[in-house]
Amino acid sequence: MTAVANDTGSAPTTSADFIALEDEWGAHNYHPLDIVIERAAGSWVYDVDGKRYLDCLSAYSAVNQGHCHPRILATMVEQAHRVTLTSRAFRNEQLPLFCEEVAQLCGMESVLPMNTGAEAVETAIKAARRWGYEKKGIPDGLAEIVVFENNFHGRTTTIVGFSSEPSYRAGFGPFTPGFKLIRFGDIDALRAAITPNTCAVLMEPIQCEAGILIPPDGYLRAVSDLCRSNNVLFMADEIQTGLGRTGRMFACDHEDVKPDVYILGKALAGGFYPVSAVVSSHEVLGVFKPGTHGSTFGGNPLGCAVARTALHVLEDEQLVERSAELGAWFKAEVASIKHPQIKSVRGRGLMVGIELHVPARSYCEALMDLGMLCKETHDHVIRLSPPLVTSREDLEWALVQLRAVFARS
Ligand SMILES: *Cc1c(COP(=O)(O)O)cnc(C)c1O
Repeated sequence: MTAVANDTGSAPTTSADFIALEDEWGAHNYHPLDIVIERAAGSWVYDVDGKRYLDCLSAYSAVNQGHCHPRILATMVEQAHRVTLTSRAFRNEQLPLFCEEVAQLCGMESVLPMNTGAEAVETAIKAARRWGYEKKGIPDGLAEIVVFENNFHGRTTTIVGFSSEPSYRAGFGPFTPGFKLIRFGDIDALRAAITPNTCAVLMEPIQCEAGILIPPDGYLRAVSDLCRSNNVLFMADEIQTGLGRTGRMFACDHEDVKPDVYILGKALAGGFYPVSAVVSSHEVLGVFKPGTHGSTFGGNPLGCAVARTALHVLEDEQLVERSAELGAWFKAEVASIKHPQIKSVRGRGLMVGIELHVPARSYCEALMDLGMLCKETHDHVIRLSPPLVTSREDLEWALVQLRAVFARS
């Protein structure tokens, strides 16, 4: 570890030192739990004081494959020795392989790689609008995209502009027009919202950040049918729900729905590198011609190589099946915990939410003290989303900690 001298001349070593340093020099746009992680392997992370914790957040499902997966690490190192960045001014030999593999995974024709999730969402929005004008014949400047209350699609100005969460928006306007915000889970609201100018519906099949809100059975199918019959693109933001988290490759698979556009990110590169992608048809992604969209780092050989191995790991270790099997058992065990402050337990695969009648923060802090890391989402929900490689024994251990915390309060 590199030691950095602090104000008093001594190097920071303890958690308290690093927290003070970050509070002084870093912007305060997060309210993290006060654990300072210095290394991790699989499902476990270790803090600078030498204490270990079971990670039940997985960096918001970006490390579905587990921390520092040895195969992905080997690819990262190997590719970093060869070539890391070419820009799209030139071609590299990893990008075509990445595009082929991601397209085939999704049963789609075409892939546009970006870096962060928010960039992929932005790319999907641009594709949908252009598709609306060029293919659907929407009059210029009038394209509308339907979005949903409690959505989370990232933090760019356009995206926060159609958020329903005041703290994501306040003070960041003026916002991009062209979005219609309706209730999630209400098919009649969607039917009423679609007009001849609607080019797309942008939806998380499960609203994770909103507190793991699962729509009523049949809703995704009904949304897909409604989109099809109105010539509207169904764009599924599977950045968090995709790649096995919910016990299927994609959350849309639970209703055998194939959206027109998949938006992927997070676990696409196993937590090693920001890699995102928009995956769709030639008809949709074909609206982009040279010069119409781009990214310096999007499609770089390091990211593509890492993502390819991350996907191979998902398949070779059967992580989707693990998520389904372990998740069903784990959710049932969590649901068997009885406590007056537990309002409901819900989930799919290895994503389980415990909704409380009270704020969840103090419960997450108590769990941290016992060596289990999770984070409240939307105040009242404890989100449990351990890496998909987590062993049954480790999950049993997590259940012991959960029971202990609910037994004492
Ligand atoms: C995390 C997330 C994003 C944004 O991804 P970033 O990489 O943080 O920009 C978008 N949509 C969903 C559903 C997410 O969970």
